[in-house]
Amino acid sequence: MRASPPVLSLVVPVFNEEGVIDAFCARVIPTLEQITPEWEIVFVNDGSRDGTVAAVARQHHAEPRIALVSLSRNFGKEIAMTAGLDAARGQAVVIIDVDLQDPPEVIPDLVAKWREGNDVVFARRLEREGETFLKRLTAYGFYRALNAIADRPIPPDVGDFRLLSRRAVDALLRLRERHRFMKGLYSWIGFREAEVPYVRAPRAAGTSKFNYWRLWNFSIEGFTSFSIRPLQMASYFGFAIAVLSVIYGSFMVMRTLLYGNPVAGYPSLLVVVLFLGGVQLISLGVIGEYLGRVFNETKQRPLYLVADLLPSRYTAPPPAPPQPD
Ligand code: UDP
Ligand code: MG
Repeated sequence: MRASPPVLSLVVPVFNEEGVIDAFCARVIPTLEQITPEWEIVFVNDGSRDGTVAAVARQHHAEPRIALVSLSRNFGKEIAMTAGLDAARGQAVVIIDVDLQDPPEVIPDLVAKWREGNDVVFARRLEREGETFLKRLTAYGFYRALNAIADRPIPPDVGDFRLLSRRAVDALLRLRERHRFMKGLYSWIGFREAEVPYVRAPRAAGTSKFNYWRLWNFSIEGFTSFSIRPLQMASYFGFAIAVLSVIYGSFMVMRTLLYGNPVAGYPSLLVVVLFLGGVQLISLGVIGEYLGRVFNETKQRPLYLVADLLPSRYTAPPPAPPQPD
């Protein structure tokens, strides 16, 4: 028989994090015990190639409230979190990074706001210690640009560190899109939101898994999965160019009528041709980004595959693979 659901589940995606698992458990478990004895931790191994699985398995054998869902390969953090949410059974679920950048001491505050009746309680960073100036600058630019075009606001300085009530988790899990930009999905589901401020700590050990190329792709994901504005931009731009060329054309006709037609203008011709060629290629690329996503969604593949499962005292047996709707 399965135990009744725990009060609180932690979902922790891990990818090559052997060095921080023990430190994470040592710090987070006393905090959880203060809140309730009915907690579980769901680690999601996102295809680690180091000793992460062994480290989590050790913790699991020492503590039956720790579960491990091992994915068959690296699927990326967004999908790893979804796998964790699928497995977690808590009445409230907190998503947290394993590297202790999200201080576990904030969890009681998140739970307090949930007990006041909020469904989504996000932790808002006040400072980003140990992050480079360039990373802060790019993050700032990204959220400004995203919010300028997104259909629903996406709060800046808010990461994946947050608490979701059971009904918010269930709502989120109904969104089975393959291209998952979780920050967009959290905001799409709505419900009552609250926030808790915190100071983001530097990484406890190991290195960040997100280099600039990954972050760049992450931003494209954000834009394309949350807005079709870029697709429309090409039409507005084309319209503006067309209006300008009509004005310029009339100006040329007037000038020819008044002053005759000395042959000139090869450089300006070339500039216009090259410029428009570039604009057309960019627009094609934008269409391609969306088309590729449509292609990937229509394949209806499962979001992830589970290779191994070490259940917690509370965790359900391996869920059946999500059925296409
Ligand atoms: N992570 C993951 N899969 C990945 C990359 C990262 O599960 O492909 C996990 C990682 O183990 C960590 C969390 O996501 O628990 C945040 O990663 P990281 O600290 O590298 O990101 P940063 O804090 O630099 O944004
Ligand atoms: Mg980190």
